[in-house]
Amino acid sequence: MDANIANIQHFSVGDGDGIRATLFFKGCNLRCPWCHNPETLSAAPVTLNYPAGAQICGRRMTEDAIFAELTEDADFYRESGGGVTFSGGEVLLQAAAAAKLAARLKAAGISLFIDTAGYAPFSAVEALIPFADAWLWDYKTASPQKFRDTVGGDLSLVEENLQKLLSEGASVRIRIPLIPGFNTAEEDVSLICARLKEFGITKVDLLPFHRLGSGKYEALGLAYAYRETPPQTAEEKSRLRKLYENYFTVTMES
Ligand code: SF4
Repeated sequence: MDANIANIQHFSVGDGDGIRATLFFKGCNLRCPWCHNPETLSAAPVTLNYPAGAQICGRRMTEDAIFAELTEDADFYRESGGGVTFSGGEVLLQAAAAAKLAARLKAAGISLFIDTAGYAPFSAVEALIPFADAWLWDYKTASPQKFRDTVGGDLSLVEENLQKLLSEGASVRIRIPLIPGFNTAEEDVSLICARLKEFGITKVDLLPFHRLGSGKYEALGLAYAYRETPPQTAEEKSRLRKLYENYFTVTMES
């Protein structure tokens, strides 16, 4: 079975423990305006026009070709406590192909993390449960209205999936992107914390805002809503960290 792939990033260090290879699946069914991987959103190939030349993002790869590329660095994964992370786009939209690959990685003794926004039928989550060592689960807002109006989906599906995944005993790491003007006001944070507490969450990973995707929007000829939004200051990061620490053990990416 082949899969629609945006990119394979080798020696990645921001997508889980140790040195990892990140497999970016192409296509996402949400539209977060801060998304820093805009080239992965459409399931169709897209062209990024950089000053140095054009790059096409999006190709179908066979399961064998993906597996061969992902296992090239297996020694590094083992030595560093790393492995492979499935990301995107949204991996759950290609759950059948992802599960086949995941089964092969597990058989090869390679750790697998799943980085997802969780917006798909639970059957897609379920297909990956036997093979995932950990889930990196995005939680963006506890407001159904904000989720619908800004992200473009039904929050209850994400929450139901999260609850079911937790009830299966899966290792789930909640990752919260800190988006200025969207989820960083005290009332937004309180709502998120209260909701996650209801799910029994005890630890969260905070992802400060950055504009690293800005160049990709330009290369795609797309407007970027956060083009002029500065990254959070140290004080603002500290404020947010303290708010979350009232409820959770917190880690924050730099
Ligand atoms: S869910 Fe992730 S990939 Fe999809 S639009 Fe949001 S940030 Fe981008």
